[in-house]
Amino acid sequence: MKILIAEDDATSRLLFAATLRKLGHTVTAVENGRKAWEAWQKDEHFLLISDWMMPDVDGLQLCKMIRGEPNLRYTYIILLTALDSKGSFLEGMDAGADDFITKPFDEEQLATRLRVAERILGLHQKLHIQATHDHLTGVWNRAAIMGHLQKELERAAREGTCTSVIVADLDHFKRVNDTYGHPVGDEVLQEAARRMGLALRGYDRIGRYGGEEFLITASGCGWNEAMALAERICSSLSRQPVNSGAGQIPMTVSLGVAVGCGQGKDTGVLIAAADEALYRAKKSGRNRIELSNQTT
Ligand code: GH3
Ligand code: MG
Ligand code: MG
Ligand code: MG
Repeated sequence: MKILIAEDDATSRLLFAATLRKLGHTVTAVENGRKAWEAWQKDEHFLLISDWMMPDVDGLQLCKMIRGEPNLRYTYIILLTALDSKGSFLEGMDAGADDFITKPFDEEQLATRLRVAERILGLHQKLHIQATHDHLTGVWNRAAIMGHLQKELERAAREGTCTSVIVADLDHFKRVNDTYGHPVGDEVLQEAARRMGLALRGYDRIGRYGGEEFLITASGCGWNEAMALAERICSSLSRQPVNSGAGQIPMTVSLGVAVGCGQGKDTGVLIAAADEALYRAKKSGRNRIELSNQTT
């Protein structure tokens, strides 16, 4: 597990880090609550072990700050303290801690408490994947891809970069269902999503926007890269028929591309622009890409 430790006492910090590494965990260790807050915001840490008494931001404040963030992913917090009274236990739990470890720590007890954390975080991760992914195709679901696009546009505004949106709609997909039945249609949808996913680069994401319609976001990506990506997606489907239980089924996709650069770009406006381009791709013959007419 990836564990974040916040502890101002250098000896205790080193001892904790060494013990956790020995137990097979990956550790980031910082010396105060403020640095822990920064590390937590910057990188995904779902397990925090924090000292209570620290200068600047203390463990209680850190708990409250983390719990105050609207976040779908749960962070399991273990408070570390020399305090051992009922009052401090209640205060810590109320601030959002999940568990306590008193200093000096017992290695066996620490390992056991970490197994509890692992059990809860493991279940949470499964639920999180179910809540954010499409069950049929395994790509991001609509809410998740829209949330991601919103964040990417905010980032593009801050950094003065561009974010591209591609709307991809399978061509004449109704015919597949009508000819071979819905279960074979499902198979084709799964294979289409798989192929499109393989065409993406590391920072791109694909989500299921509607029935046989997918939304692809490409960060830090201007017109040329977006166009190249759309071409890869388009040919990933048309290159060879889908091998289904009912035999080889040819499949193509039409795509609309829009690019949002800098300030003031709105998810709705960008998707509408890509949709309008998609509409033209459909009208002019399908299995093709059209670019939005918008100025960016
Ligand atoms: P066009 O090229 O204009 O996009 O034609 P189309 O047939 O793809 O578009 P249309 O909107 O007429 O039909 C989409 C079809 O996709 C109809 C719907 O039943 C099917 N569909 C949507 N979701 C699913 C699904 O989860 N599984 C299956 N098998 N079919 C689905
Ligand atoms: Mg301390
Ligand atoms: Mg379609
Ligand atoms: Mg459609």
